[in-house]
Formats: sequence, structure tokens, C-alpha cells
Amino acid sequence: QAKAEGRNQFQFFIPSMNERIRERFTMEARLRRALERDEFLLHYQPQVDLASGNVTGTEALIRWRDPELGLMSPLRFIPIAEETGLIVPIGQWVLEQACRQNKALHDAGFADLTVSVNLSPRQFSPHALVESVRSALAQSGLRPEFLKLEVTEGMVMNRPEEAEDILRELKEMGVCLAIDDFGIGYSSLSYLKRFPMDQLKIDQSFVRRVTDDPSDAAITQAVIALGHNLNLAVIAEGVSEEGQLAFLRQHDCDEIQGNYFCQAVPFEELYQLLSSQRQLPH
Ligand code: C2E
Ligand code: MG
Ligand code: MG
Ligand code: MG
Repeated sequence: QAKAEGRNQFQFFIPSMNERIRERFTMEARLRRALERDEFLLHYQPQVDLASGNVTGTEALIRWRDPELGLMSPLRFIPIAEETGLIVPIGQWVLEQACRQNKALHDAGFADLTVSVNLSPRQFSPHALVESVRSALAQSGLRPEFLKLEVTEGMVMNRPEEAEDILRELKEMGVCLAIDDFGIGYSSLSYLKRFPMDQLKIDQSFVRRVTDDPSDAAITQAVIALGHNLNLAVIAEGVSEEGQLAFLRQHDCDEIQGNYFCQAVPFEELYQLLSSQRQLPH
């Protein structure tokens, strides 16, 4: 009898649940097809050194051009790719494409340019990730010091021991390591010292209000000082206004990334921007 009731309750929820499951299935099938049909592409957002005003690197940001849905933001499909595990082959594609395109830029004369690649928690597993990175570097011929891997606090804090091993192995290969979205996850500052990181990225939620919220200003200033005391280069992301830039300069931030200088653009546009030698005005 309880079973019958349970079934009735279940049926009560069927319409909306069915729909969500169907949507998820459709998305998964589309994502799988997208991999086969090569529908992903990378946009690149320049990173600028505040001392010289020069572009020193880029961050690779994935996009998906679906024939029906058009150009899609990673915020729409990365979570589903994470859930279904498709992020592993997609992430592999991102690594390979980013290394290949950065090598092409090196060959075109932009020889010091780094490329940053975002990693997902699902990719962050021993052996698989290291092999994946090794193969992307070997295939492209890009030297490891020009590849930066972005991890988030959550990814490394879940299993810190394992994370430390993975990060050390990557570090031994010669790649650079960055902590993305710093300050919004839960982290222990002592781990920051233990992990072999090179760069700290201040989350854009702090940068956004840095000129009108005293707390965000204090946090941003403290994070820059913390990074420097730990010998990490500090980059601020999401810089979209002149005032934010001035604040970051004043507090000795090393680099910025954001729409104030340039949004994420297709590879061809990045190439043009580099060719024009555009700089951040002093
Ligand atoms: P993220 O790694 O923190 O990347 C920064 C995001 O902020 C990018 O959004 C970028 O376009 C955006 N942004 C940069 N400057 C500004 C600005 O001045 N104003 C505003 N409003 N936004 C700015 P995007 O490209 O939509 O990527 C969103 C997130 O998706 C990324 O956040 C990252 O977590 C994830 N993602 C992107 N590409 C990949 C990928 O290849 N693999 C994985 N696993 N995740 C990715
Ligand atoms: Mg990132
Ligand atoms: Mg970020
Ligand atoms: Mg983010």
C-alpha cells in the first residue's frame, strides 16, 4: 500500500522531472556530437603586464557553436559536461587546441606569450591529467613553461594530499600553475604555501566593486600583498573600468585581464591585436 502511494507521489512529479531529464539527455547527446563534429572553439582574453603595458599571455575560454542554438557560453554547458564526464574529452581538446594555437603564435613571432587553460574538477585526477598535459605539449611542440593551468581552490582543497602530488608532477614537467577565482572558495592559507603555485588570480567579484566598496578594496589589497609575500605573481580578472585599473596599479598588482583592455576574442582577432602591438596606456 505504501508502495502504491509512493508511486502516486512519484507520478505527481513526473512531468517536470521528465522534462529536465530529457533536456539533460538532449544536451548530453548534443555535446557528444559537438565533439565529433568539431563544434567547439576557443576565444582568448589577453593578459597585460602593468609595468610594461604589454600583452604577456592569454586565457583560453571555450565556446560552442551549435548549429541550432548558436554560440554558447561555457556557463551553459560546462556544468553538464562536468556531470556527464564529457568534460574529460572536451578538456583534452581544449588543452590540445590551446597549445597548438599558442605554438602557432610563437612561430609567428610572439615568442614569449603564455596560454592559460581552465581545468575542471573531473579532469583533476592523478595520471590522467598529467598524461593529458604531456600529450598536448608533445603534439604541439609548445614548451611547458608557456602553458599555465588554472585550478580553483575547491579542486585542490577536496583532497589536498592527492592534489599536492598532481601539482608537483605538473610542476616538474615545467608548466605554470595558477589559482583561479581566488578568495571566493574555501581555502586554507597554509595550503597555499604547500602547493607549488606560480600565480594567483583575484576573483572578479572583488575587482568589480574595488572602487566603491571598502571591504572589496581591503580584500583586494590584502590578496595582492599575500600573493607577493608567498612569491606568487598576482593577476586581477574582470577589470572593466579605469578606476579599477588605477587601484590595482596603486597596490602593485602585476597583471590584469578584463574588458577594459580587451574581451575574450576569436583567435584571428587575437592575432590582429598582437600584430598591432596594442598596449595598456600608462
Ligand atoms: P574564469 O576562468 O574565471 O574566466 C573569466 C570569465 O570572466 C570569462 O567568462 C571572461 O570572458 C569573463 N570576463 C573577463 N573579463 C571580464 C570583464 O571585464 N567583465 C565581465 N563581466 N566578464 C569578464 P567566460 O568565457 O564566459 O567563462 C566563464 C567560466 O567558464 C570561466 O571562468 C571558467 O570557469 C569556465 N570555462 C571557460 N572555458 C573553460 C574551459 O575550457 N574548461 C573549463 N573547465 N572551464 C572553462
Ligand atoms: Mg580562468
Ligand atoms: Mg576566474
Ligand atoms: Mg570564474
